[in-house]
Amino acid sequence: MSFDVAALREEFPILKRQIDGKPLVYLDNAATTQKPQAVIDAISSYYSECNSNVHRGAHTLADEATRLYEGARDSIAQFIHATSSKEVIWTSGTTESINIVAHGLVQLMTDQDEILVTEMEHHANLVTWQQVCKGAGATLKVAQISDNAELDVEHFISQLSSVTKMVAMPHISNALGSINPIESLIPMIRERAPNAYILIDGAQGIAHGGVNVQALDCDFYVFSGHKFFAPTGVGILWGKADILSEWPVWQTGGEMISTVTYQDATWGELPSRLEAGTPHIAGAIGFGAAVDWFSKLDIVGLQAHETQLIESATEQALAFDGLELVSRAQNKVGVLSFNLTGSHPGDVGFLLDKQGIAVRTGDHCAQPLMKRLGVPGTVRASFSIYNTMEEVDALFNGLKKVQMMLM
Ligand code: PMP
Repeated sequence: MSFDVAALREEFPILKRQIDGKPLVYLDNAATTQKPQAVIDAISSYYSECNSNVHRGAHTLADEATRLYEGARDSIAQFIHATSSKEVIWTSGTTESINIVAHGLVQLMTDQDEILVTEMEHHANLVTWQQVCKGAGATLKVAQISDNAELDVEHFISQLSSVTKMVAMPHISNALGSINPIESLIPMIRERAPNAYILIDGAQGIAHGGVNVQALDCDFYVFSGHKFFAPTGVGILWGKADILSEWPVWQTGGEMISTVTYQDATWGELPSRLEAGTPHIAGAIGFGAAVDWFSKLDIVGLQAHETQLIESATEQALAFDGLELVSRAQNKVGVLSFNLTGSHPGDVGFLLDKQGIAVRTGDHCAQPLMKRLGVPGTVRASFSIYNTMEEVDALFNGLKKVQMMLM
């Protein structure tokens, strides 16, 4: 049985919206995905039935809230195949997760060390490491990509050595959809750069079927809830327990301590040692609900559906006169990045919106990447599991109209 997109769409109330009287065609999923009713209900039910702080109350509501909150952590641990829930740290999102690792790493580095990133980084996984290198007097190395928007694996490997302290790279590029072959790269990193930590920016990777962090054997895998059908303001730092339990603490305060005197304090165990203060409880519960909801879907079917969407979009883009395709990687998912010849991406986005078609335009938080590709920015249509082949066609019909308007 094929993946039932029509039934899936029924679970997303927002997909019934109209924009200026036209049906919404939501193609901005790499920025944030829409939320299914199951997630909306989980958040609403937490606030209407058991709102309370977690871990610290001696009452029924606190017990119920804590159970839901820790249950969500368990769901996520299971979904990403963590060894234990203790390895799953709640954060505000990918950006904060990377910053927690960076804050610790700078304290462990010397000016002899190097950090390796790629040319396709989101600013969150570039500026952070740039600043770590500045703080430690260390060197930031950047692995090149090809003109086809794929990682140049040979160049990447040539940048690894015994002084590499961190390799930080995206699982999937937000601006290009290129999938990095992290499964085969990680063993090579281990061999050539035995002193390096490996962090995978999974902000885009997580939404396309999940991940097995144990099989991958990276040290950190980070992602955001809102790109995975869950609320904004909540994300995950997954790390190997032996590393996280020794990692320099991030914020200090309530919840993360073991003992406190006026003069000193000792830190608690994982996961709380990296989780100071009251967390985003509703967000965490919503994230758990998103994972539970997603896990019940036909994952193989939805991946095949996503492949169909991007293949059809790429085929139509290549046949479209006056369209310059920027996301040209062979192995890609979810993202079509392009420009219409002679048109500013912002104008194209504006005129698509007038037809109910939501895309993102600009540099996609990847200014150096845009410079590398020789474009000021792009129009980015990004697909999720609830998009249809008809919506792909609507994009290209819309683009034809835009082209006529801008001629
Ligand atoms: N990395 C990548 C690849 C992303 O796509 C994003 C979000 N666009 C981020 C990092 C940052 O995620 P957040 O804004 O949710 O912290």
